[in-house]
Amino acid sequence: MIECKLCDAKVETRTTNNPQPILPNFEDRVCKDCNSYVTATRFVLSRIYSQFDASIQSLFYEGLATMLRMSANLRSLERSHLNRSEEE
Ligand SMILES: [Zn+2]
Repeated sequence: MIECKLCDAKVETRTTNNPQPILPNFEDRVCKDCNSYVTATRFVLSRIYSQFDASIQSLFYEGLATMLRMSANLRSLERSHLNRSEEE
C-alpha cells in the first residue's frame, strides 16, 4: 500500500498511475480517482499550458496540484462530518 500524492488515500501500488504532468516527480503515484484529473489535464490543460514557457507551466501545475489536494481534503472533511451526523 502507498499513499496517493494528491489525495493521501491509501491504495494498492499496482492500481496507481503516474501523475505527470500535474506532479513533476516520476517516483510519485496517484490513485484511480485522482488519475481521472491527471488524464483530463493531459487532454485539456497541457495543450493550453504548452503555449507558456516552462517556468510558468510549473507554476500552473503546482497551483492545480494544490487545488486538487485542497478539494480532496474538503471532500474528506465533508464525509467525516456526514458520518458523524449519521452516527448521532
Ligand atoms: Zn488520489
